[in-house]
Amino acid sequence: MPTFRAPRGTRDLLPAERVPMTRLERVAADLAARYGYHPMETPLFEDAAVFERGIGAVTDVVEKELFFVGARADEGERWALRPEPTAGIARAYVQHGMQTWPQPVKVTMTGSMFRYDRPQAGRYRQFWQFDVEAIGDPGPAVDAEIIELAARFYRDVGLPDVKILLNSIGDPACRPAYLEEMTAYYRRHEARLPPLERERLERNPLRILDSKDPAMVDVNAGAPSMTDGLCEACAGHFEAVRAHLDALGIGYTLEPHLVRGLDYYTRTAFEVYPAGAGGQQSAIGGGGRYDGLVELLGGRPTPGIGFGIGLDRVLLALQERADRNAAAEAILAPEPAPLAVVVGSDPADTATRLRLATELRGAGLAVRADLGQRKLGKQLEAAARDGAHFAVIVGDELASGQVQLRDLDAGTQRPTPVTNLARDLERAARTHHHG
Ligand code: AMP
Repeated sequence: MPTFRAPRGTRDLLPAERVPMTRLERVAADLAARYGYHPMETPLFEDAAVFERGIGAVTDVVEKELFFVGARADEGERWALRPEPTAGIARAYVQHGMQTWPQPVKVTMTGSMFRYDRPQAGRYRQFWQFDVEAIGDPGPAVDAEIIELAARFYRDVGLPDVKILLNSIGDPACRPAYLEEMTAYYRRHEARLPPLERERLERNPLRILDSKDPAMVDVNAGAPSMTDGLCEACAGHFEAVRAHLDALGIGYTLEPHLVRGLDYYTRTAFEVYPAGAGGQQSAIGGGGRYDGLVELLGGRPTPGIGFGIGLDRVLLALQERADRNAAAEAILAPEPAPLAVVVGSDPADTATRLRLATELRGAGLAVRADLGQRKLGKQLEAAARDGAHFAVIVGDELASGQVQLRDLDAGTQRPTPVTNLARDLERAARTHHHG
C-alpha cells in the first residue's frame, strides 16, 4: 500500500486518459470557435455566496456538495471550489461590464469542477467539463443553436446516437402555480415518500423530480408536468425552440419531468444521454436557460443559456462502446509513436545522440534520443518497442558526416549525410505506410 493516494472521489488522469480527454477538449474548442465562442477562464474558487445565490441555497450542489476552501479567518472570506462554471462566468459578466459588449457574449470554459458527492462510477468529486455560454440573447433561436452545437459535438467525437431530452421549466411568472400543483400532488402521496423527498417537499419541491431514489420512479411518473402549466410567453418560446430544432433536423425527446439540479434555470432545459442509457447517473451533458442569474448576481436583468459537457463521462461512454466508429477510435487512439529514435554504437556518447535529436526536433520532427547508456542492440530493441518508424544510428562514419538511417518496419538501412537527415526523414515520413 502506498503511503499516499489521491483523495477519495478524485483520480489522477494518467496519459492514457488525459490524452483522449485533451482530444475531446480540442474537438469542442474548435467547434465552439466555429460558432463564434471565445475561451475564457474564471478562478477555481469563488466567494461561496456566488454559488449559494446563483445556484440556489436549497440545492444538493450547494447544500451538500460545496467544497469549502480554507480561507484565512482574519480576512473574513468564505470561498468554495466551483461546482459548475455558469455562476462564475455570470459573476465575471457583471464584474467586467460585459453588458456593454456586443450581445450575446459567447464564451467557453474548460476545466475541473468540484462536488462533494458520494463517489461512484462516473461520479467524481473532481471532474472535467467543457462549457459553452451565450449571455444576452433571450432566444429561442440561440437555444436551438446551442442544442445543435451539442448534438454535433457528440457526433464528431463518435457518439452519433445520443438521446437529447428537452423540456421547458417555465419562468417566475408560471412556475409558482406549477409548484403549488406539484406540492399538492406530493402531499397526496406523502406516505410513499422517503424521508429525503419529504424534506424536499417542504423546502424545494422541484428537486423531488430529480430524485435518484428508485422508490420515487412510480410516484414521479404521475406528477403534473410543467409543460402543461406554462404561461403563454413560455409556451410560445418552447414551441419556437422546437420549431428551430425541427428545421435543423435535430432529433430530441420531450421529457416533461426534466428539471435541472440547479435553481437558476428558466425555460429551456436539456440533457444528453448516451444511446440506450437511462437514469440520472449517465447524463453526459446538460444545459439550459438561466434568464434570472445575472440579475441574481447583481447585474441588470440579462437572459442567458449554456451547456456543459461532462468530459469524464463522454470518455467512459466511448470506452464502453463495443461498436466504435472511426471518430471514436481517433479520440481513443494511443499517441503517435516517434518518427525516429537516435541510437548509437558508443553507449557513453549521449551528447551526440542528444545533439542530433535536438536538431531534428528543431526541424519540427518527432524524434527521441536514447539517453540510456546501453548497448546498441538494446537501444534498437527499445526503439522498436516504442513503435518508432526509423532509427538514426550514430557510429564511426559520423567522422565523415554520415549516419545510418534504419527503417525499423522494413528492416533495411542506408547511409545518409547528417546534413540531409531532416529532409530525408521528412520525406520518409510522408511516404511511409504505418504497420
Ligand atoms: P450538471 O451541471 O450537473 O448538469 O453537470 C453537467 C454534466 O457534467 C453532467 O451531464 C455530467 O456529464 C457531468 N457531471 C456532473 N457531475 C459530475 C460528477 N460528479 N462526476 C462526473 N461528471 C459529472
